[in-house]
Amino acid sequence: MSEQRQPVLTGGCQCGAIRYAFYAQPDRVGICHCRMCQKAVGGPFKPWANVRLANFAWTRGTPGRFRSSSAAERGFCPRCGTPLYFAYVKRPDSISITVGSLDTPGVPQLTQVDGIESRLANFDPTVLASLPARPTSEGSPPEDLSHMVNFQHPDHDTPPDWRPPEG
Ligand SMILES: [Zn+2]
Ligand SMILES: [Zn+2]
Repeated sequence: MSEQRQPVLTGGCQCGAIRYAFYAQPDRVGICHCRMCQKAVGGPFKPWANVRLANFAWTRGTPGRFRSSSAAERGFCPRCGTPLYFAYVKRPDSISITVGSLDTPGVPQLTQVDGIESRLANFDPTVLASLPARPTSEGSPPEDLSHMVNFQHPDHDTPPDWRPPEG
């Protein structure tokens, strides 16, 4: 199985077992505050980028899937649990990929906001802007992070035999 097209966006799960590629820019990008998306990603909202399946491919591994309702299924890495996609059953020609799983999550420009009936006031941007804020390097983890071994897949494609470093 050889893929001749050049990806415009790539991404995958935290452990690297699942990788994917976009061969066109997303049609729409947004965040969904609905309760099902909150639960599915374990966060206050789910950032998503929708693309036609014709312009998308799983390039390593096969996601696990959970039918979260009669209308949709959600995919995740069966090894590390990273939430990867949302897809409507009756819209089989497109898929919405979680923006945080992209190698370049800062690139797609958002075009819409959904699920506002469930928007959480405690995560309002004005609340966040009022809080004490610091970079990771100024946190107080129980381990010296300068000597931490990173098992996360890097933010770029790797050879099929890529493995995380030994811990
Ligand atoms: Zn994984
Ligand atoms: Zn939602």
